[in-house]
Amino acid sequence: MEKKLLHEVFRREMNDRKIPLSLGKTCPVKCAFCYEKDTGYRTTFDTPLTSQEDWEFILKEIQSYPTGSDHWVVGGNEYMEWTDLFLHPRAMDWLKEFLEVTDKNITLFTVGYTPADEINRLAEKYPGRINFELSVITLGSFRNRLMPHAPTIDQVLRILDGPAVTSANFYSLGPDTMYADAVRISQVNKQCLLWMGCLTPLKYIDRDT
Ligand code: SF4
Repeated sequence: MEKKLLHEVFRREMNDRKIPLSLGKTCPVKCAFCYEKDTGYRTTFDTPLTSQEDWEFILKEIQSYPTGSDHWVVGGNEYMEWTDLFLHPRAMDWLKEFLEVTDKNITLFTVGYTPADEINRLAEKYPGRINFELSVITLGSFRNRLMPHAPTIDQVLRILDGPAVTSANFYSLGPDTMYADAVRISQVNKQCLLWMGCLTPLKYIDRDT
């Protein structure tokens, strides 16, 4: 992709307060319910894996925005395909740099690829600046079928066992699924918000799942 176009895509994302990192490929987590199996409803660009040079451009641009109460968001880009951006090998380094060199707030979305100790240490070091929306989805027996490549339950619970997570979202997949997850999560973390609901059935989800 030409640099001029790439920077244009970055700028569009940053206008919406997105931090436009890219894995340079479709999301390897392959969740059965992922909305990004069909991005036909909006225009997306095939952006390459974010390089150090790209990051320096992005960070410099972000620093030129005034600081307000708004949050800069990692996850759910508008002009780039959604992926779990914490699979980028530099994502945690760049998150630390963002917190160090800017005074801005940040919102993170991930299914749990932030190393547990590191993200909880960062939350302690920068209180009030990180809004961490952890997509637990389910801790029950459907997890492997819905998210065959997702982090383990143990990893998710270790992330929850600390100050980092602001809200944990998870879903009803039948009797005693959502309730059981609510109990388990709140035993580990009594502070985070529990964000519950039903997954929307998607046309391309396979019959067995
Ligand atoms: S981790 Fe997120 S972006 Fe990746 S497949 Fe799962 S739902 Fe989609």
